[in-house]
Amino acid sequence: MVPRKLSLLLSVFLLALPLFGQQQIAPKPKPRVIVVGVNGMELDMIRPLLLKGQMPNLASVIERGAYGKLRTVSAPNCPRVYSTLFTSTNPEEHGVTGFIVGGITANTNMLKEEPVWSMLSKGGITVGMANVPATFPVMPVNGYMISGMLTRGKNCEDGVLCAPKLSEVMGGDAVYPKSMQPELLKNVGDFYIDCERMPAAGDLKGHETELIDKWLGKVQLIREQQTKLFDYLLTAHPTEFTFLAQSCEDRTGHWLYPITPFNVGYNPSVNNVRLEAFPNQYIAFDKVLGSILKHVDENTYLVIFSDHGIKPLREFEEKDPHAHMDHEKTTPVIAKHDFADGDDVPGSFFAMGPGIKHDLRLMGLAASVYDVAPTLLHIYGIEQPKQMRGRILTEIFETPDNRVAVKK
Ligand SMILES: [Zn+2]
Repeated sequence: MVPRKLSLLLSVFLLALPLFGQQQIAPKPKPRVIVVGVNGMELDMIRPLLLKGQMPNLASVIERGAYGKLRTVSAPNCPRVYSTLFTSTNPEEHGVTGFIVGGITANTNMLKEEPVWSMLSKGGITVGMANVPATFPVMPVNGYMISGMLTRGKNCEDGVLCAPKLSEVMGGDAVYPKSMQPELLKNVGDFYIDCERMPAAGDLKGHETELIDKWLGKVQLIREQQTKLFDYLLTAHPTEFTFLAQSCEDRTGHWLYPITPFNVGYNPSVNNVRLEAFPNQYIAFDKVLGSILKHVDENTYLVIFSDHGIKPLREFEEKDPHAHMDHEKTTPVIAKHDFADGDDVPGSFFAMGPGIKHDLRLMGLAASVYDVAPTLLHIYGIEQPKQMRGRILTEIFETPDNRVAVKK
């Protein structure tokens, strides 16, 4: 007689056998990749924070992966660089050359080259995107898409950034599929789609400290809403490819960069008030990263990048302090990124995941925004299309042919 416990074990084992057989013929799971875009993350600003231990989550990503500068395009700004990153083509080729194209605010209908998220969707990969700049109106994907910077809505003039709430969006859809919008309103709330616009010089005069604190409070509220949104999406709608973006860091840097009196545009009543405001954005971003990292296991790739850095205005800007109006014409901007020489403000790149080297520092400007899409396709084993100008960042992988998925 077989003891009862053993017979139970045996029957479990026998039951399990056909399951093992099935698993062997089932297709290999597709890689899971989470991409986080941070608008204008400036390495010079985050290095001291890393040293002081104020960005523990980013420090852990650096330790477990590869990182370095990311060469950007000339005169970089969000729509211009993000569209290059999506398509690996230059701004003239993809058509989204700046905030305004042909007199109207840049939108996805202007995109002349196929973006990487569309290629992944066609390749059968589930795609989820949230708050990525220049994705309005949203386009259908094999998953979901929630638009980001340049979403149009209440009080949005052409070319001027604004921060509509989800319920205030006008002139196109901010959510795909449409049925997801009521679900988001119910579970996340009526969140702001983009970061708050910067205050005008006229409004600031005489109320500097009060307005700076009020503005920073709003920025923090937007970030909290965004963290809740990201966490909800990663929990309730996990996708094989997820692309999330943050934009408040850059917006803060433009007018609250901690500059000293000899810098162009220095105004003590604004620039001597909250010297820690800009670095604090990265400390706050690190907390957002912490909540994203809860959804990253050892089989997930995590890519964090910034489209460009941001630097105080240069000597040649002095003649025309309003020559740097990449956001709107009234803000007292003291730092910017749309320098003719993009190498003045490189972005940054951090990657970790299966088969990616540990603690690898990429030297120089060998990696560029053109290389992100080919590298993402490579992870999924999808061949790089001819029009893409970038290359696969093979140097970050332990073996040069680190194809996780089998090429079709
Ligand atoms: Zn900017």
